[in-house]
Amino acid sequence: MVFDPRLTSPAPEDRITIVCLHCEKPVEVPRKVITFTCKHCHKPLRLENIQFKKYEARRVIETCGVVTVEKKGNVIADRVHCGGMIVRGRIKGHVTSRGPVLVGPEAEIRGNVTAPSIAIGAGAILEGDYRIGQMPSADSAPTQAT
Ligand SMILES: [Zn+2]
Repeated sequence: MVFDPRLTSPAPEDRITIVCLHCEKPVEVPRKVITFTCKHCHKPLRLENIQFKKYEARRVIETCGVVTVEKKGNVIADRVHCGGMIVRGRIKGHVTSRGPVLVGPEAEIRGNVTAPSIAIGAGAILEGDYRIGQMPSADSAPTQAT
C-alpha cells in the first residue's frame, strides 16, 4: 500500500497542515502566515523558521518551523520547542523537536533533546539526555525518571 501524504491531505496549495506544539492537534493554516492562533487550544503559534547567528538568550523559543543555529550562533534558552532543528553552532537548553534534529560536526548541544530522529556529525559535543523516536502523546512537560 502506497502512502502518499498528498492523497490524505487534500488541502489547497496555499494551505498547510501543521501540528500544534501545545495541544498536538493538526491545524490547517495559510502557508504565508508567520503567526496564528490554534483553533483547538487558542494558543499563539509561530510558523516561521528562526535563525540564530550570534549569542542570544531566550526564555522560550517556540515555532512550528525550523530553528537553525549557525556556526557563530550561541543560543541559551530554557526550552526550545520546534518543528525541526539544525545546529551548526552552540545551544544550551531543553529541546523538543517534532521533526529531525541535525547536528553539525562542530556543534555543541547542552541539554535534553527529544526528537523523532537525530543526525550527528563526527566531533559534535552532546551533553544531556537524548530521547530519539516517536514520542508518546503525553503532556509537553517530560518527567524525569532516572
Ligand atoms: Zn493547539
